[in-house]
Amino acid sequence: MTITQEKTLADKVRADFPILHQEVNGKPLVYFDNAATSQKPVAVLDAIRNYYEQYNSNVHRGVHTLSGKATDAYEGAREKVAKFVNATFPQEIIYTRNASEAINLVAYAWGLTNLQPGDEVILSVMEHHSNLVPWQLVAKTTGAVMKFVELTPTEEFDLEQYKTLVSDKTKLVSVVHVSNTLGCINPVKEISAIAHHYGAKVLIDACQSVPHLAIDVQAIDCDWLVASGHKMCAPTGIGFLYGKRDVLRAMPPFMGGGEMIADVFLDHSTYADLPHKFEAGTPAIAEAIGLGAAVDYLTNIGMDKIHAYEAELTAYLFEQLRQIPELRLYGPLPNSNGEGRAALAAFTAGEVHPHDLSTILDQAGVAIRAGHHCTQPLHRYIKAQSTARASLYFYNTREEIDVFIAALKEAIEFFGGIFG
Ligand SMILES: *Cc1c(COP(=O)(O)O)cnc(C)c1O
Repeated sequence: MTITQEKTLADKVRADFPILHQEVNGKPLVYFDNAATSQKPVAVLDAIRNYYEQYNSNVHRGVHTLSGKATDAYEGAREKVAKFVNATFPQEIIYTRNASEAINLVAYAWGLTNLQPGDEVILSVMEHHSNLVPWQLVAKTTGAVMKFVELTPTEEFDLEQYKTLVSDKTKLVSVVHVSNTLGCINPVKEISAIAHHYGAKVLIDACQSVPHLAIDVQAIDCDWLVASGHKMCAPTGIGFLYGKRDVLRAMPPFMGGGEMIADVFLDHSTYADLPHKFEAGTPAIAEAIGLGAAVDYLTNIGMDKIHAYEAELTAYLFEQLRQIPELRLYGPLPNSNGEGRAALAAFTAGEVHPHDLSTILDQAGVAIRAGHHCTQPLHRYIKAQSTARASLYFYNTREEIDVFIAALKEAIEFFGGIFG
């Protein structure tokens, strides 16, 4: 028996996202670029507006009422984020501008002081540039050596090869949880346990997992984990670094300035305790409050429900894509329940340039991404100059997948006429 009358998660939440209800190029918008940034619900927009309209004030500074309210909201959001990823203490959450800044914080504050010539840093070939370039810079300064985990034949993290790379020389393993291009879900618990066995630290780039899966930093047992607010219904300009308390305490500050000090003398200073040691200057207050509202919004829906619904979409999306013979799909295929990979699909269609596909789809109101998705080395590895990528979130629907597939087929036919 099928319950076809039941409302889907998307049916229930779409009204919360004003931006989705518009036409683009005369067609209803189908927003399939969620891996680049997600849309924002009214609850988040309201939280930001309320802050500016009712209690805009600097945090941690004034004793006046508005400053107290702003500080409570700003710190309250931190507690929400901590709970969301199951951190042990709220001070383990450091606000940053985005995930890139969080990785740079670790690279500079920890990497520069802990890496020696010959020490090894293990990354994978599927890393986003944000989890690659900071380590290149730090490796160059410290003399540390970078090693790379490659892909299995199904284009997933090669755990066996990883086991051969890691050794007593390994000081850090920094890998992506869910690839923004391949969509594979990496075995971060196992990766972390193996690294710790050799005394190495572990950083997880969770940009594509925190918005979609229930994350438990204690279960993963990573030393650091980073994410961006804007991919999880929060505004731009806010992200976070989770770090184990002892690990963060042992790190020197990243940037100096107001808010991060205990006592300042002309020639030296002492620093505030966590988390303020890493939050120099006036922070992104409204954005942090918006992040707290986004966490509330996602929590109220339930990350398990979000994941289950996205798995349904994933199964349907790949069912449809696999019926287009011209397509080369990247990364692992989902199982019949849509599990085993993220709700995104990177693909190419023979000689057709992904930018041309994207342009044609845009004419049909469908927003997808074309390019290297900030994973140029991965594209070189999979021998694709660029790929097209459709990435979904819990407010997307099967009907939108139908529109996307129809437009994609038309585009391929059109270019097939030209090239064929
Ligand atoms: C988006 C993304 C980043 C970078 O996030 P920013 O918000 O641009 O700092 C890093 N890694 C992955 C896997 C991403 O998807």
